[in-house]
Amino acid sequence: AGVPPIDFRAALNDEQFAAVTAEPGPLLVLAGAGSGKTRTLTYRVAYLLSQGVRPGEILLLTFTNKAAKEMLHRVQDLTGIEPGRFWGGTFHSIGNRALRMFGDAIGLPKNFTILDADESETLLKQAVESVDKTFFKEKTNPRPGPLFSVLSLARNTQLSIADTVTRNFPQYAEIADQLPAFAAAYAKKKAEDKVTDYDDLLELWLKLLTDTPDVAQYFAHRFRHVLVDEYQDTNTIQAQIVDRLAAHHRVMAVGDDAQCIYSWRGADFENIMTFPDRHPGTVIHRIETNYRSTPEILTFANGVLNAQPKGRHFDKELRAHRKHGQKPAVIQAMDDKEQAAFVLKRIQSLIENEGVSANEIAVLYRSHFLALEMQLALTRAGMPYTITSGVKFFERQHVRDLIAVLNFVYNPANTSAWNRIAILLPKVGEKGASKIYAAALDHAKLMQQNFVDALATDDVASKVPKDAKPDWPNFCASLRQVYDAMNDQKPSDAVEVAIDGWYGDYMKGEYADYTDRVEELKGLIGFASQFTQMSEFLAQIMLLNGETSEKQIDHDQESIKLTTIHQAKGLEYDVVFLIGAAEGQFPGYRTIESGDFEEERRLFYVAVTRAKNELYLSYPRVASRPGPGGMMLQPTRFLQELPNDLYDELRIKRTFGW
Ligand code: ATP
Ligand code: MG
Repeated sequence: AGVPPIDFRAALNDEQFAAVTAEPGPLLVLAGAGSGKTRTLTYRVAYLLSQGVRPGEILLLTFTNKAAKEMLHRVQDLTGIEPGRFWGGTFHSIGNRALRMFGDAIGLPKNFTILDADESETLLKQAVESVDKTFFKEKTNPRPGPLFSVLSLARNTQLSIADTVTRNFPQYAEIADQLPAFAAAYAKKKAEDKVTDYDDLLELWLKLLTDTPDVAQYFAHRFRHVLVDEYQDTNTIQAQIVDRLAAHHRVMAVGDDAQCIYSWRGADFENIMTFPDRHPGTVIHRIETNYRSTPEILTFANGVLNAQPKGRHFDKELRAHRKHGQKPAVIQAMDDKEQAAFVLKRIQSLIENEGVSANEIAVLYRSHFLALEMQLALTRAGMPYTITSGVKFFERQHVRDLIAVLNFVYNPANTSAWNRIAILLPKVGEKGASKIYAAALDHAKLMQQNFVDALATDDVASKVPKDAKPDWPNFCASLRQVYDAMNDQKPSDAVEVAIDGWYGDYMKGEYADYTDRVEELKGLIGFASQFTQMSEFLAQIMLLNGETSEKQIDHDQESIKLTTIHQAKGLEYDVVFLIGAAEGQFPGYRTIESGDFEEERRLFYVAVTRAKNELYLSYPRVASRPGPGGMMLQPTRFLQELPNDLYDELRIKRTFGW
């Protein structure tokens, strides 16, 4: 009501229009960067609604939760229908929702909590030690982190552990036959603790869809239309989930095989190549016009694609729609400092003299460490910036500790959360934590008492090391307060109580910048106030933890975006700076050694196609840390392999008067 009918013809070109209004059935939209794939998907949702499909019948899977939200807001502008009425988000977040509803069908308790990466590794460590006490004592064996990566990749690619080791981790060939037992012990431990890790959200979801026909049928019936963005970066398990959900074949997948950049996490662009085989009758739509970038930037990007060796990819050529602009510029700086100074100066000029909004400027890089000088330069100049990678809010120590307090009180079976908070007490280590836990568990069982109360009994207190005794009563009391707050109040109240209690006191002694940290934690209260259910709040945090979270700054203020290329996927900016475009930085030395450049080249393609109007590629001549090639750096091969009339070389001195 009140929303005018949508003129699909006017908003879309012929190719897009054809895809948006296609008959329901398997649809694959294959197109290059900036051609309107995401826009097509958004309009497809609006179109389906205009055909009488209800919001609840549509499932939208995107790469980040933020992307889903933005698309659904756009749909709201078009149709007036609120985003909250759709299921839209990442595979993990939708998996979480599905498991909360039906997980009990496969034996998963409703109040399961989600472990973050560190907690998962700790749990894995314990599981391994329960099978083989000395495994980690052996110096040549992988630490829990790398071990976790092996098991995780196997799960995400649905390959056996043995195959995964052979293909991706040959260095662990000798221990490969021990690993399945570790995986089993880890799975058992998770089940006992009523916890899942991130991979479970996919694995158990697929299991749910596979093993329980009723549930599969429920979802197939409910989601009559399944839409997936960035399909080229789905891994095997995600592709299988899509196939199960869309057994009815009313599915639209959009993607660009040239932008597949997550193979290190199991993404496999074979999924996009074989989509038509798995969904018979697939109609392929191609869009060849690029609306994002100037012809100069596009010619440059096409050059990058042309440099790909012949192989298994869909050929595509992008045609420019926009007016001419300037050629991409390549800048050789003396070192990191000069590179940062150049970028800063250009940014200042863009903002002050050319009226470009800071929000429309992005500095991209291959790896976090390449951006440190840039962060310093911006900070010194007082330029507000947002960093979407690197310092992640939910990864900061004190934030995670507080969340562990909440996770533990919410689900005392979560021993990972318990361990995390118990070892904050003086002289309590992992062993001590387990001992106290075991005593409390016995007591709770014996007295049929809740766990938090059991902690406060004399029985349990007697197990607490002497040095921790003074803190103990306060510790127990504050957990009890959090428990009470959780039971009858909003999640935000529980957060506040947790900050005010023992944990706040603990921080005071622990961190010199205590007040700043408390301020940050208070930010969490605001975040929590969006939720009415503790489970929902905790699940959201654990999911956010797995992806991007912006450094907490004033969100109304405009800010320059600093981000890894991976995190800039699907996004666009007026002006893009790619820093560290040098051999040894991008591609890094490890890639150079391996000789496998294809994924890095695709990443380079993703980077340059983020730019709408201006693109700058810079590199330092002198490395801050000498690499195998010595101190001097060469421009990245991805630049060297292009015809040099595709870009201009800017000299810092001449152009900027140094
Ligand atoms: P990527 O591969 O980077 O994810 P994409 O193919 O999803 O890119 P979009 O982000 O949907 O591309 O679109 C790129 C830009 O072009 C957006 O600003 C979008 O609004 C604009 N655009 C796309 N199609 C049209 C059109 N028909 N008319 C006007 N603008 C368009
Ligand atoms: Mg897109």
